Amino acid sequence: MSSTTFLDRLRKGLERTRDILNADVEDLARGRRPLQPEDLDAMEEALIASDFGVAATHDAMEVLRDRSSQVWTGGVPAMRALLRDEVRKSLDRPLAVRPFATKPWVVFVVGVNGVGKTTTIGKLARAWKAEGRTTLVCAADTFRAAAAEQLEIWARRTESPFHRGLEGADPSAVLTDALRLARSRGHDAVLVDTAGRLHTKGNLMAELAKMARVAAREVAGAPHETLLVLDATVGSNGLNQGREFARAAGVSGLVLTKLDGTARGGVAVAVVRDLGVPIRYVGVGESAEDLLPFDAETFARGLIGD
Ligand code: GDP
Repeated sequence: MSSTTFLDRLRKGLERTRDILNADVEDLARGRRPLQPEDLDAMEEALIASDFGVAATHDAMEVLRDRSSQVWTGGVPAMRALLRDEVRKSLDRPLAVRPFATKPWVVFVVGVNGVGKTTTIGKLARAWKAEGRTTLVCAADTFRAAAAEQLEIWARRTESPFHRGLEGADPSAVLTDALRLARSRGHDAVLVDTAGRLHTKGNLMAELAKMARVAAREVAGAPHETLLVLDATVGSNGLNQGREFARAAGVSGLVLTKLDGTARGGVAVAVVRDLGVPIRYVGVGESAEDLLPFDAETFARGLIGD
């Protein structure tokens, strides 16, 4: 995919957030007058409304105020440039791993039900297949038969091998079988769907920890990535769950889904600041091709505009 279409699709996905961030600013631009302090207040409100969070909004406003002379003379374009830079800097986190350095590359996908785990796995299997990789899709959520069925549909659609256990089976046992299969068949990657809910939260976190131990026994260094899927439409309200997973499940990266359906795209900045791990992918729609690899610079441009 060329970078133009990538940016275009991200721009489209972030449309609603960008509209909020730009509504007041566009009015100012039409007025063609130097910016006033009140204009910055409007910007602050827009940042809060799009879920940047209090801390990130505070920092961004500090930069705009510190550089106010630049904003006064440069007007809206200067303000956007400063904001873009702030967003890019907060989102730019180094990746601790080199994807596909080991074979099979084992990725756990975690998060509460409904955030888009199944869909994300399907989209990833498709993208990796397009890169020439075989991905075994493993349904380790043995309590949600419907989830395993959905996952199997995605696997079939992407012509990816699929493994599931019997309903109610021990997820770690299902995972062990999947990893042995992937090893013996020489698959490049294993995507593991995990339970989003058990009877108690304590159990769920203990189960994820056990699965990680089991994975490491079968494949050195596994899970190589643990991706926490967060639903952007929930905005910063999803942060509490995020923290719990991040603490207990050793999350190494984030997937932010449903950006297309929300004006709260600023939450990307809030979650990265809060959880301290990079975003790896963003979901901008329900179709198979609607998952984009994350890039801080492109995202900042999509969010704030040029
Ligand atoms: P899971 O319970 O976490 O496995 O969630 P699912 O993958 O089943 O997704 C729940 C719903 O969210 C489904 O209707 C998906 O089509 C939808 N969904 C997932 N990702 C996106 C996205 O990026 N954009 C939109 N608009 N919908 C999404």
